[in-house]
Amino acid sequence: DQIITWFSKEMFEEKKYLSRLEIDLQHAIDHDELFIMYQPQYMPSGQIIGAEALLRWQHPEYGLISPAVFIPLAERMGSINKIGQYVISQCLEMLKHLKDENISRLPIAINASFLELINPEYANLLNKKIKKYKIDPRQVHIEITETAFSNDINFVMKNMVELVANQVDFHLDDFGTGYSSLSYLSQFPVKVIKIDKSFIDLILEDHKIHHVVGAIIDLAHRLGMEVIAEGVEKKQELEILNSFKCDYYQGYFFSKPVSKNDFKELLINQMTKNNVFLKGN
Ligand code: C2E
Ligand code: CA
Ligand code: CA
Repeated sequence: DQIITWFSKEMFEEKKYLSRLEIDLQHAIDHDELFIMYQPQYMPSGQIIGAEALLRWQHPEYGLISPAVFIPLAERMGSINKIGQYVISQCLEMLKHLKDENISRLPIAINASFLELINPEYANLLNKKIKKYKIDPRQVHIEITETAFSNDINFVMKNMVELVANQVDFHLDDFGTGYSSLSYLSQFPVKVIKIDKSFIDLILEDHKIHHVVGAIIDLAHRLGMEVIAEGVEKKQELEILNSFKCDYYQGYFFSKPVSKNDFKELLINQMTKNNVFLKGN
């Protein structure tokens, strides 16, 4: 289990704490304090179909710091591009490792901040790295949020078109929490939408949310998109989502984010099971 240590306000004022984090974040990459956890994504059958890469910061003094805290800092400081490129390189290295060891060729989903997507060089840099690591581009998924559509849309679109031309898929994250203009869904080349956890949390108790989620899944399918439900924690949630024909799942019910080595082990176990099954047949 991951333990997130929140540095208490009594010990430090929040502001001082954040400005200290800002300074430290600039050196976090060079000091090897950033690392990635992988949260597997599943078919309804329980088969792993990929994972989302989630960044962590192990601060030498304050312990584990949530990305919900330090990503906004990085965005404000202008270091999000550097951090984003670091995450990309780490993920591609992981994909290459899994391929070289003949463990898996499943995809990894990488979160991209809208500030990365408005960088005109984003697609070019990513495509170059995919080539350098000799990765199948279909193994790289990029998760974006609706905020990407409220800024320099032209650059965002250019990056998306360039990457989709190379067969990199886009997943629309936190669906339902932002502006959620349905026109985005038809305008931008999005392959998968991820229904936000806040909807899944209410699906059992709120009758209207229950219908909203069903309608979102229907709509996505009609538009030729697939759906991942995020933050699935309970069996009953899974059953409802299955009845709506939700395509894929991610959440504590299946697995929390795990370390690189633990993810590798999950993949090896799955591979072994499949082989036994094949031989048994
Ligand atoms: P997100 O992209 O929406 O990621 C999903 C978050 O939900 C993760 O939190 C994950 O650990 C958590 N989660 C997944 N399943 C469950 C569940 O069943 N129950 C509960 N309670 N939580 C669940 P995490 O890892 O703390 O990440 C927070 C946010 O930080 C992410 O939200 C994402 O927006 C951002 N983030 C993380 N890594 C990166 C990165 O490499 N780049 C960028 N730009 N943002 C990142
Ligand atoms: Ca995400
Ligand atoms: Ca999300």
